[in-house]
Amino acid sequence: MIPSVESVYCDGCGCIRPVLYDRMPADERNDHDATDIVCGECHLVIATLHHPIAAKTAEQKASA
Ligand SMILES: [Zn+2]
Repeated sequence: MIPSVESVYCDGCGCIRPVLYDRMPADERNDHDATDIVCGECHLVIATLHHPIAAKTAEQKASA
């Protein structure tokens, strides 16, 4: 589901840095899982991945 990327270009550092994935499970504010792609050096959030389709599919399977 999440591509296995090990480094990312960070605008804050101005170079390629090791990447961290910060997983945020669905809660009352967010109805689906999301994952922040974070610079391993300065912790700048490069991008946020959202997983609404995967969450909905799992929900529908559970209730079917
Ligand atoms: Zn950085």
